[in-house]
Amino acid sequence: MKTSLHLSSLVLAAAGVFQPPAHAAVHEHLELEATLLAPYRGDVRGVHPDARTFTLSFAYPGLRGRRPVRWRLDLVAPSGRRVARWQGRVVLAGTPADVVVRWTGSVAGHRPASGVYRVRLHAASGVESVDQAWDIAVGSLPAPALPPFAPLATGHARMLAVPAAGALPYTVYYGNLHSQTRDSDGGGPVDTCHGAQDPQTAPYGPDAAYPYARRHGLDVLMVSEHNHMYDGSDGTNPDADPAQARAMYQAGLATAREFSAANPGFLALYGMEWGVIGNGGHLNIFDSDELLGWERNGKGELIADTETPKSDYAALYTLMRQRGWTGQFNHPALAGQFVVNGTPLAYTPDGDAVMALCEVVNSSAFSNSENEGETRRSNFEQACNKLLEAGYHVAFSSNQDNHCANWGASYSNRSAVLVPAGVPLTRASFLEAVRARRVFATMDKDAQLVLTANGHLMGERFDNAGALHLQVAYASTSGRQAATVAIMEGVPGRNGDVTQLSDQADVTTTPAPGAHFYYAKVTQDDGKVLWSAPVWVAQAALPLNPRLRPAPNKVAMPSTAKISAARPCTSFSADEPAARRAAIRSPKYTAGTFAIIMPSVVPATTDTAEL
Ligand SMILES: [Zn+2]
Repeated sequence: MKTSLHLSSLVLAAAGVFQPPAHAAVHEHLELEATLLAPYRGDVRGVHPDARTFTLSFAYPGLRGRRPVRWRLDLVAPSGRRVARWQGRVVLAGTPADVVVRWTGSVAGHRPASGVYRVRLHAASGVESVDQAWDIAVGSLPAPALPPFAPLATGHARMLAVPAAGALPYTVYYGNLHSQTRDSDGGGPVDTCHGAQDPQTAPYGPDAAYPYARRHGLDVLMVSEHNHMYDGSDGTNPDADPAQARAMYQAGLATAREFSAANPGFLALYGMEWGVIGNGGHLNIFDSDELLGWERNGKGELIADTETPKSDYAALYTLMRQRGWTGQFNHPALAGQFVVNGTPLAYTPDGDAVMALCEVVNSSAFSNSENEGETRRSNFEQACNKLLEAGYHVAFSSNQDNHCANWGASYSNRSAVLVPAGVPLTRASFLEAVRARRVFATMDKDAQLVLTANGHLMGERFDNAGALHLQVAYASTSGRQAATVAIMEGVPGRNGDVTQLSDQADVTTTPAPGAHFYYAKVTQDDGKVLWSAPVWVAQAALPLNPRLRPAPNKVAMPSTAKISAARPCTSFSADEPAARRAAIRSPKYTAGTFAIIMPSVVPATTDTAEL
């Protein structure tokens, strides 16, 4: 569920678009979906090496009847200028539709200047619209220089939990923090599953999800059931038995606890995806032992443990804060979601105290791929940035929202948490890491990204005076290289736009006095992207004596810019060939972490490529 929806089910019903059955007044997933697959690299072979094919995928799950969708695809140069546009119309009738757009690789008959371009999709149907954007590489781009980085230990069963010498003292655990099973509208068999299941009808529940995820290499699986489907209905079931609903929620929690206890190194989480899409917004609560809800059966009994008014986000945040719970904004839309006092994605101090994560990229909720082959992906970075600019302290996460029985296997994306070395992975240590925002989002489960600022780890909030040294550390355990780096900058509470500070991985800047946040984004040579958690910096006012002021906004590069972009993992499985193990153990991988490199000042680089 990943689009903006501005109309109520009443409007839909009145328009004759949708005839709800008695117990299913609102189909939870009834909305326009549109994704854009934009290959990061061109075809290489042929006359135009930048030529490539974009794939637009449209769907309207649960649609009865026909629905036209208008779409527009823009190619935007690094300067911000639009250099190409394609547009068209497609009529949806029950089944998904793909539209293929071929770019010849030239602009106005010429080969375009090299740079990172942006491909933007806008799709609209009635009052619903979806916007998606992905970066692509055009021409040849120099690989960025990266600071030395000793990869962190990982919790993967196939790797030993031994960090590289000099590595930060954390273990990285890779999870999928958003999925459904039979307890709500997930758990459909992969061979027949193409979307949301009728609540509580599918064959697979949490007891199937956790072993599946563990077998497929995940360290963490969060089963997040729609909180309003414990009555066995998309709408409200007047015959629902509240005791049964509450018991099902407790049974899910027990299944998770027991599976975690029986499988050290794997964390099974169970909880809720709270809210509705239309005039709502979905958020995950990772750690509630109470079922929350607003629906009542025909006898007027609450079908939950604790009443939470529907779509009252301010009240929910306050309850979460009282209870000490932790949440994630799920697939946030730019408009019409998480509304408080008429403002979407609105800041409240209680919300800021409890909401720790924001989904930045999800793979399709209705994927039935079991080999990480899903190509439909939705990007929510703009909405997450809006939350950051509103003042939220959220780190990025990337999840699968599985509704079919392929938990964690539909794509290679993960949310990764950093747990202190030697501390076992438990619900408590996971929550501690999430609350500290020691989290990164990655489209590649075999990669790591860490941002530090004056030695502070990503996720931290700290006071600063003078220069701020930002370093982006990246590692791949599968031989990938970083193709581009971006350090993004914003101001909490400004409600403005996040901008790119630098395309370098090692930067010294002097922030203007006041509050700032910075996060890093690395795009790999295969186009997969990683997002660090932000750091939040409160910059002291400038000293009064101008001679004591730090030089403003100098961007610095290390003088030793010859560090390889990726290093193999220093851990290995017992069945690795001996030669490879020896190679991996080679002392060249024992470089210290975040060595202080004296910077030599160079002019700030800006994106000025013109066509
Ligand atoms: Zn959702």
